[in-house]
Amino acid sequence: MNATRRAQYLEVLGIDVWLPRARGSPALTPAQPARAVRADRSEAWRALQREVSQCTKCALHATRTQAVFGVGDPQAQWLVVGEAPGAEEDRQGEPFVGRAGQLLNAMLRAIGLARGANVYIANILKSRPPSNRDPKPEEVSSCLPYLMRQIALLEPVLILCVGRIAAQTLLGTDAPLGRLRSRVHHFGELNTPVIVTYHPAYLLRTPADKRKAWQDLKFARSVFRELTAHPERH
Ligand code: SF4
Repeated sequence: MNATRRAQYLEVLGIDVWLPRARGSPALTPAQPARAVRADRSEAWRALQREVSQCTKCALHATRTQAVFGVGDPQAQWLVVGEAPGAEEDRQGEPFVGRAGQLLNAMLRAIGLARGANVYIANILKSRPPSNRDPKPEEVSSCLPYLMRQIALLEPVLILCVGRIAAQTLLGTDAPLGRLRSRVHHFGELNTPVIVTYHPAYLLRTPADKRKAWQDLKFARSVFRELTAHPERH
């Protein structure tokens, strides 16, 4: 992450990189601003978590067991974005659990990643829609700012968007998933690269498409390597 991009993220968050110095304290050393940034981010992350856990911005708060903020490494370079918590996620408070979660873990392992190690996993909606129906537009518009703040804090190198609903919502399109695969999209003010693949729950129902998902994962891995090898080009 170069300094300019980091500064853009922090500006979006309204985080002041420089902590105020006590009167008469010595000048800041170069290591101190980095520590200050980390401290500010950790606090901003915890504040965001608290806000989501108490959120009543849309009607879904009335039927959820708990909000599902996300899981993983808050310093991760990869962000996986799904649609919304299901019944088990709502019970456990963690995204992508159960059989679909196990398949997602296997997909991540296939490209050398692991849940909790350089990957953060979140959904567009933090509260479960009843009967796992599709999110309503007003729910998305209420909840999407939380994901945008997560993205600004995480500064992921790459977003892997899983499933049609998540992809269409994030990218603001109604194009079918097949047309969104195999390309690098960009999301938000910070232009974060996005790659789209199938939702693991869909792959459980349609195992023939696992081969295409593997192509997507290999594509994502090669784009990630390019982005991290040559950050100055992006
Ligand atoms: S879905 Fe999002 S906006 Fe709606 S209540 Fe849950 S956290 Fe709040």
